[in-house]
Amino acid sequence: MIPFLDLKALNAQYRAELIAACTRVIDSGWYIQGNECKAFEKEFAEYCGTKYAIGVANGLDALILILRAYKELGIMSDGDEVIVPSNTYIATILAISLNNLVPVLVEPELDTYLIDPSKIEEKITSRTKAIMPVHLYGQTCEMDKINEIAKKYNLKVIEDSAQSHGAYFGDKRSGNLGDASGFSFYPGKNLGALGDGGAVTTNDDELAQAIRALGNYGSHKKYENLYKGINSRLDEMQAALLRVKLRYLDEEIQKRREIASYYLENIKNENIILPIVRANNNHVWHLFVIRTKNRDALQKYLLENGIQTLIHYPIPPHKQKAYSEWNSQSYPISEQIHKEVLSLPISGVQSLEDTMKIVKIINDFN
Ligand SMILES: *Cc1c(COP(=O)(O)O)cnc(C)c1O
Repeated sequence: MIPFLDLKALNAQYRAELIAACTRVIDSGWYIQGNECKAFEKEFAEYCGTKYAIGVANGLDALILILRAYKELGIMSDGDEVIVPSNTYIATILAISLNNLVPVLVEPELDTYLIDPSKIEEKITSRTKAIMPVHLYGQTCEMDKINEIAKKYNLKVIEDSAQSHGAYFGDKRSGNLGDASGFSFYPGKNLGALGDGGAVTTNDDELAQAIRALGNYGSHKKYENLYKGINSRLDEMQAALLRVKLRYLDEEIQKRREIASYYLENIKNENIILPIVRANNNHVWHLFVIRTKNRDALQKYLLENGIQTLIHYPIPPHKQKAYSEWNSQSYPISEQIHKEVLSLPISGVQSLEDTMKIVKIINDFN
């Protein structure tokens, strides 16, 4: 069986260094908010090109804390609206709802799966405070257009970079393309911890300070609390492991690009639509997502031929029970995408032999 993603093999590449990192943490006697987290924050900020990176417990918390900080700073308040793509992982939308803000869904473009900048302006009202583009599957959104709209209406731009570590738009990286950005280090992400982890990046001093305090019980000084905060911190063990993996991230991305190029050049099947990358955008191929009318049949056929695939995602957010108030609404492009997408195996440890086998089997599908 060719697995969708072999996490064990992936981490085994760095086994000795990961063990050394664990040992260093164990022997330090310091497990929360210590030097490893501080060093990772510095290294990750440098990687993204931002002034700050703040370690948090996971990607959802990163997004929640950004919005919460804007509320504490008086920039947003209950009932304000945040524009978000109608096809994203549910976490992006949960972060908005959980802050008593209102998610306003905007359809994606069918061919890139990314929020359609030409459909944003019609959704802006006097209560709109932010746009949250999601660099879905690893391709950066059209940030020039999105930032221009944000500037015109005085909106914050909050990137969901959970799938796009290292991706560029122009000469800047994901995490440095708006006012603030949330990252996830869930094990399967391009930069994955060996557990949960996340970070916020920003160049905004005030926002960074507020987020740092909010993630630590609202405390800016020991035993003094400025806000009713939460506990959301990146622990020393995960930070130490992430420091190892960050050093190999660009290599990992390069390997993913090689597999993606091979797929793009060699998958030739008229029933299958391949992903496209827009001229100005940049793709780190967190997921290689194809589309076909016969998605379920293709998935079954591939499995019968020893290839594991996944669907990102099977149910659009507005059709989830959690958002029953939206269930009767219609977002046809998003619905079509959810019906037709299939993610092929891709990772830094996938052999050329396996990639060639996948292509051959897909090309024989009819
Ligand atoms: C993974 C993911 C998140 C959430 O990250 P967690 O670390 O799992 O909380 C948010 N947004 C998107 C687009 C994601 O893919």
